[in-house]
Amino acid sequence: MSKALFCPTCRKVVLATDPDFPFCSDRCRILDLGKWASGDYKISTPVQDPDDLEELARSKTHRPNSGDED
Ligand SMILES: [Zn+2]
Repeated sequence: MSKALFCPTCRKVVLATDPDFPFCSDRCRILDLGKWASGDYKISTPVQDPDDLEELARSKTHRPNSGDED
């Protein structure tokens, strides 16, 4: 019994015996890799302005005490 999957790139049925499994072809493998490399999975690093951080810290200290703990 041979396993079969759909090519992640073009959705064609690919048999587990195929040399390019789980892709239907080398081309689809490369396309899929390119998809990963070209930013489908972007790692977004939020650029924080030092001034913004300062502002944020200030607004936190300015926040009135909630609750009347004495
Ligand atoms: Zn394919």
